[in-house]
Amino acid sequence: MSTIDWGNLAFGYIKTDYNIRTHYKDGKWSELEATSDETLNIHMAATCLHYGQEAFEGLKAFTGKDGKIRIFRMRENALRMQSSCRGILMQELPVEIFEEAVVKAVKMNERFVPPYGSGASLYIRPLLIGTSAQVGVKPAAEYTFLIFVTPVGPYFKEGFKPTPLVILRSYDRAAPHGTGTYKIGGNYAASLVAGNKAHEMGYSAVLYLDPKEKKYIDEGGPANFFGIKNNTYITPDSSSILPSITNMSLMQLCKDLGIGVEKRPVPEDELATFEEAGICGTAAVISPVERIDDVEENKSYVFSKDGKAGPVSTKLYEKLRAIQNGDEPDPHGWVTVLG
Ligand SMILES: *Cc1c(COP(=O)(O)O)cnc(C)c1O
Repeated sequence: MSTIDWGNLAFGYIKTDYNIRTHYKDGKWSELEATSDETLNIHMAATCLHYGQEAFEGLKAFTGKDGKIRIFRMRENALRMQSSCRGILMQELPVEIFEEAVVKAVKMNERFVPPYGSGASLYIRPLLIGTSAQVGVKPAAEYTFLIFVTPVGPYFKEGFKPTPLVILRSYDRAAPHGTGTYKIGGNYAASLVAGNKAHEMGYSAVLYLDPKEKKYIDEGGPANFFGIKNNTYITPDSSSILPSITNMSLMQLCKDLGIGVEKRPVPEDELATFEEAGICGTAAVISPVERIDDVEENKSYVFSKDGKAGPVSTKLYEKLRAIQNGDEPDPHGWVTVLG
């Protein structure tokens, strides 16, 4: 059977048994099919290759203490992918088919779902692409949706530790009224140069400012930003950031825990007033921020001096993980428990 070292997995790709696919043609989606083929055979003039008709999602499944597999908020991912489709004129996949495909992909690769207590999880990657040939700039008539899964390790190998972010004012990942609110490959292509630069400079990610005025905080690479002050969770409202499902969940947990929530524009200057800061997304849940350097402006905002995450970030992190793992009740019905 499996010889995977669950405790030492990276956030990478490991081949699993099956991926699930459906194709859209002549007005309908085909029956879901399972395949072990890791490649796609598509037309060289497919719109995904030339005009970026590509959207993706990311979600996770966990094994609980009871041995049952739990999938976190897949309906939200289905809805967000539909929004991405509307954003770049692709055929929307019905929510029920998305959910059925997720469950099928997890069940058929059950032996790759990491065990309870390992800190690892099964990462689920849905992908939707335009596949038919088009040379003029127009949306495709045909689409392929697929889901592959791969086990991924705990994000924090050395514990829940704050890391530094950098503001690089000469780069944007999205335009003010562009495609920043959609989860599409194009935004990621646009972020690779700045991301590399940040890593070379010793930072874990770029913190983007709003692309219009460079005055407000947008988000941190592939993760939303939040700051904490006066027992309040403050997260940017902007027309160029991706609505994170983790962020949405943390805001709900704050309400449940009696922590204030504000979603509004966050001027960069306000960073100086936060007691804690973090970025949030499926990969890490919360990645606490040690400090943010605005290098061109010679400014630095420090949130952690002792190498530890703040109390509110820690409480939220533990609470969300407990719900995902089934250690605590799921009052909002976020988790799908497989039978
Ligand atoms: C996926 C993503 C996030 C995080 O969203 P989650 O649903 O919490 O995983 C944040 N920002 C961007 C740009 C993303 O693509």
